[in-house]
Amino acid sequence: LRDIADRDGLTGLYNHRYFRDALEREAARGARHGRPFSVIMLDVDHFKQFNDSFGHLAGDEALKTVASVLGANCRATSVAARYGGEEFVILVPEVAKPATMVVAERIRAQISESATLDPSTGIERHFTGSMGVATFPVDGKEANDLLDNADRALYAAKQAGRDRVAPSGAVRSPG
Ligand code: GH3
Ligand code: MG
Ligand code: MG
Repeated sequence: LRDIADRDGLTGLYNHRYFRDALEREAARGARHGRPFSVIMLDVDHFKQFNDSFGHLAGDEALKTVASVLGANCRATSVAARYGGEEFVILVPEVAKPATMVVAERIRAQISESATLDPSTGIERHFTGSMGVATFPVDGKEANDLLDNADRALYAAKQAGRDRVAPSGAVRSPG
């Protein structure tokens, strides 16, 4: 029951606070042992438009769809959380960037292929998500730096057209 305090009410994923604590712990552990770990940050694409078009209830169902895809693609040691609104994060212990990119790409594909049942109309709705990946220690050694860099990569994924995964630190073409 104590677990309820660590969870997001809508999706059942871990909440922002629990994720921050887990990330701080992992960064401290990384500093001691030098083991890599990665952070995936995910933001639903054009979600304001999704809500405006299909309603807030359909939007809530879409967020539950994201949660179930994350749950299906996370190992027991990973921490998948709703960071806020339509933004999600996953802490992936012991996994460096290339393998994390594979996981993120699988999540991206499953979200874009999923159908969310609109509870008020029974109509299937579709949406996509964009992701940024940052890895300890190459993209930062502190929790805040890793989150900033995952967020920057996420922004690059949005700029590049959405429905895609971008690694932190990638060489990007100008403009
Ligand atoms: P982008 O592709 O750039 O991310 O565009 P966006 O529309 O997703 O981004 P924006 O930040 O403009 O809109 C986020 C929307 O997410 C607006 C807000 O109403 C919606 N949202 C946040 N939390 C919830 C929620 O719990 N349920 C529902 N249905 N919508 C939510
Ligand atoms: Mg957002
Ligand atoms: Mg969004």
